[in-house]
Amino acid sequence: MRANRAEEPRLEPSMVADVARLVREVPIPRPFSMNGLVDRLNRHRGKPIRLMRGDLSGTMPTGLLLRTEAADYIVVIRDVQRGHARHIHFHELGHILLEDADLAGPCLPQADPRARAADELMAEEFAHQLAERIDAHPCAGTGAETIPPLRRWARPSRRGRTCAA
Ligand SMILES: [Zn+2]
Repeated sequence: MRANRAEEPRLEPSMVADVARLVREVPIPRPFSMNGLVDRLNRHRGKPIRLMRGDLSGTMPTGLLLRTEAADYIVVIRDVQRGHARHIHFHELGHILLEDADLAGPCLPQADPRARAADELMAEEFAHQLAERIDAHPCAGTGAETIPPLRRWARPSRRGRTCAA
């Protein structure tokens, strides 16, 4: 993070690479579903991730993450469009998995604002990379884990776009 520069804050290449490594390890179900992904992740975690839809007021964010002793809850407001909801899920999932992997800090109010900004960028990077990996091969079978990781700068393959993911 270079706060003194006028341009948008950006992640260091090493941080983008860390996110790419993490995204590569995500066990993506085929055909893809958010519930299927969380089921797979939960099989390997001591604490389950729970997806929830909530009725939040207009002053609340469209999505939020609640990490408790018993479970990690990803809450997305009910009237968010599907594509946007997916992005929120991926972003919040990014926070969870990045923190679990010690690549980003916990989302705490007292955290250094610059560290928090970097954590937000990493969660966004995670969300975009995960979406690219999922969307590149929507028809892939159960051997999906063998799909090589996609990089932001690589064009995803158009192959397999004909089936609904
Ligand atoms: Zn965030």
